[in-house]
Amino acid sequence: MRALRKTTSGPGLDLCEIPEPTPGFGEVKIRVQRAGLCGTDVHLFNWDGGAPGSLTPPQTLGHEFCGEITQIGPGVAEGFARDELHVGQRVSVEGHIVCGRCRNCRAGRRHMCIRTIGIGVNRDGGFADYVVVPAGNVWAQPSSIDPELGALFDPLGNAVHSCQQIEMTGQDVLVTGAGPIGIMCVALAKHAGARHVVVTDLQADRLALAERAGADVALNITERTLPEVMADLGIREGFDAGLEMSGAPGGLSTLIEHCTHGATIALLGLPKGAFPVDWGKVITRMLTIKGVYGREMFDTWYLATYMMETSEPLRDSVRSIITHRFAPEQWQEAFAAAASGTAGKVILDWEA
Ligand SMILES: [Zn+2]
Ligand SMILES: [Zn+2]
Repeated sequence: MRALRKTTSGPGLDLCEIPEPTPGFGEVKIRVQRAGLCGTDVHLFNWDGGAPGSLTPPQTLGHEFCGEITQIGPGVAEGFARDELHVGQRVSVEGHIVCGRCRNCRAGRRHMCIRTIGIGVNRDGGFADYVVVPAGNVWAQPSSIDPELGALFDPLGNAVHSCQQIEMTGQDVLVTGAGPIGIMCVALAKHAGARHVVVTDLQADRLALAERAGADVALNITERTLPEVMADLGIREGFDAGLEMSGAPGGLSTLIEHCTHGATIALLGLPKGAFPVDWGKVITRMLTIKGVYGREMFDTWYLATYMMETSEPLRDSVRSIITHRFAPEQWQEAFAAAASGTAGKVILDWEA
């Protein structure tokens, strides 16, 4: 089978021909249909950021994917009843494998496991024709979720998890960063009944995508100021909630500056390193700042599926974030697009 792999330590990847994997105890084998590229994959490709410390070559990348179960391993409840798995079932996959033994795991807070292992980061992932994963990481998708949408559930779950941290209904929400997850947050906030959603970015293509996904204003802050936009929208005392999706230090300071007193700000964008924060304002304005990582296993998956299943406009908004689709053989173009900073979501089509 084809597999897009890191074969040596250092920059680059190779599209290899390797044997199909066999599911071990408690695992299932999946025929991958679509897989999404994300920032983590670009770092692994470039071999920068935390990549050298996390991945041991040779290993297949890919943690955002959707496919069909082709084989059920020993020890897995097989069948057609609810919560059973069967061959031919369409599934997305939670990319974090947790230990089940640490305090958080035992308390049901599996997304806070202290020994998390990442599919496509610490073991073979979904940039391949087939992948083997623990059955407990599989998320069965309803028929309304096609493989392309199914491949978006990892970043969509990040967005849902971020939005879970703040009240949305009737609120004015400010999102900093119009990458794929930031745009998903825009769509989710509108779906959840936010009053106004304003998103900021420096990149025109991404702002256009955010507008298509439902942003009331998609703002390049070098062209127009937030106070001007707020005056237009009748936001008198600041935004009620903030979502930092860029990882840029300026994103958080923009939120601290323009959120109202007592606002909650959720942070998912990963900064490159430490940066100064005006803590005096956080304290005197009594802001709540919450770090968000991954998805709640599996409550976030339920929320994401329930919202997507029942709302065609939300499905359309989420799908509109996909800007590029490539065959696996075009993986170099796919990575160039993902690294460009102007793309929405880049998808590898493993059925091509
Ligand atoms: Zn990712
Ligand atoms: Zn654990």
